[in-house]
Amino acid sequence: MTYTKVWADNEKLSKEEQRKLEKDGLDILNDIPKYAKEGFESIPKEDWSHFKWAGLYLQKPKEDGYFMMRVNVPSGILSYEQVKVLSGIAKDFGRDVVDITTRQAIQFHWLTIENIPSIYERLESVGLSSVGACGDIMRTIVGNPLAGIDPNELLDTSEIVQDVYWHFQRNLEFSNLPRKYKISISSNVNNAQNAEINCLSFVPAVKEIDGEEIVGFHLLAGGGLSAKPYLAQELDVFVTPEQVKEVTIAMTTIYRDYGYREKRHRARLKFLVADWGPEKVTEKLLEYVDLPSKGKTVLKDWNAGYFYGIHPQKQEGLSYVGLNIPVGRLHSEQFLALAEASKKYGNGEVRTSNSQNIIIPNLPQESIEAFLGEEILQQFSFEPKNFIGYSVSCTGIEYCNLALVETKERMRKIAHLLDEEVELDVPVRIHMVGCPNSCGQRQIADIGLQGIKMKTKDKQLVEAFEIYVGGTLTEDARFNEKLKGKIPANQLGQVLVGLLQRVKEEKIAGESFQQF
Ligand code: SF4
Repeated sequence: MTYTKVWADNEKLSKEEQRKLEKDGLDILNDIPKYAKEGFESIPKEDWSHFKWAGLYLQKPKEDGYFMMRVNVPSGILSYEQVKVLSGIAKDFGRDVVDITTRQAIQFHWLTIENIPSIYERLESVGLSSVGACGDIMRTIVGNPLAGIDPNELLDTSEIVQDVYWHFQRNLEFSNLPRKYKISISSNVNNAQNAEINCLSFVPAVKEIDGEEIVGFHLLAGGGLSAKPYLAQELDVFVTPEQVKEVTIAMTTIYRDYGYREKRHRARLKFLVADWGPEKVTEKLLEYVDLPSKGKTVLKDWNAGYFYGIHPQKQEGLSYVGLNIPVGRLHSEQFLALAEASKKYGNGEVRTSNSQNIIIPNLPQESIEAFLGEEILQQFSFEPKNFIGYSVSCTGIEYCNLALVETKERMRKIAHLLDEEVELDVPVRIHMVGCPNSCGQRQIADIGLQGIKMKTKDKQLVEAFEIYVGGTLTEDARFNEKLKGKIPANQLGQVLVGLLQRVKEEKIAGESFQQF
């Protein structure tokens, strides 16, 4: 399908925009078989950034030719067969590392161009894809990881998410957006989707239409993190489940055609929404789709994507178990063993949450004890401690070209230290990121740790961190605020022990970190 690229005549387009007009991001898919045959050396440097559209980033250092691959997992729902394939890819090509991201996706590292075609084949054989997981395109859709089994959802959103996801997969009408574009669709009343930090979010709502209460969605637009974070704003519309795809197409068209393309750091949808305001965005949307004004929001509180413990499902007699995967990293055999245990007692599904953890659904009540007795369940707790259970980390310097510091192992060690040294009666959500880009969603953490480089007194350049406190997406949603000073990385653990011990001394029992 062709369409008019209305922005193409703008003489002030950024360099990246000009490059995208010469070669569409998705065109890299046609080149991959040839590059795979001829090897990494045959890839011209100007093509390197196009690999993002294929879900591939060059790892650090780029010249070594190893790729990181992100695989889309819409709503975080994976079947047994899908986990088996993902685990096999990590084992055969990715040095055994599986990472769960803060958007429910799966990441591999250490892949070479020669392996990509067969990895694609394996993914396609089970209906998975890495296409569009990175780049200026719609990314994987965040959804309710409990969709279909959740007593706290108004409706099952799993099919809606799939429908929208597949409409945009490899869709050349929407493969050249001004920048990355992140959407979420969920009907979980505890805001498991982190709605306010997405470019576009469908959140649960009801509205009386012709005397009948209709269950549907409200629409939030213009959220996003990075160096200039914004909370998404509510538009004055009510969307029925049948209209979600149409509305997503309309909003994506608006972003594609009116989004800013002159300066890359101003290109996200959040800048357009901030400039236009929700009224003008609503007005524009109504030019494309006929929608009534908003009804009643039913978001109750915020669970930050955590589902630890054993909980009854919508379906009588069945339960799900929420497990902690420390900082979202596990080995291929562990991933597979979780799916095997799920298959033995349930239906084999494994679900990922945006807190980088895993949920095993559909376990009959009478099997729970045996399930929890499985060897793999001794490795991942369903009742983790207050720090390791609530620690999130981005990829960091190990693989990421933009990172200033190491993150994953550091976050894991600090969380264990805090669990040993500080006994708090409530969890504290700590998010660590290696640069201002915020893949680890630093801004919404109780304690956000952002990596920087700093010069010591003797002029050595060392890894260090800024500390931010007080982020939340509860009713009074706000981003965390920076504390004064910078902490050298080797002192960070002890500084946090001191800070949290003071919190312990001063806070009232049961008071959460946010209330403190
Ligand atoms: Fe890399 Fe920065 Fe994202 Fe971390 S937050 S993965 S360092 S880009």
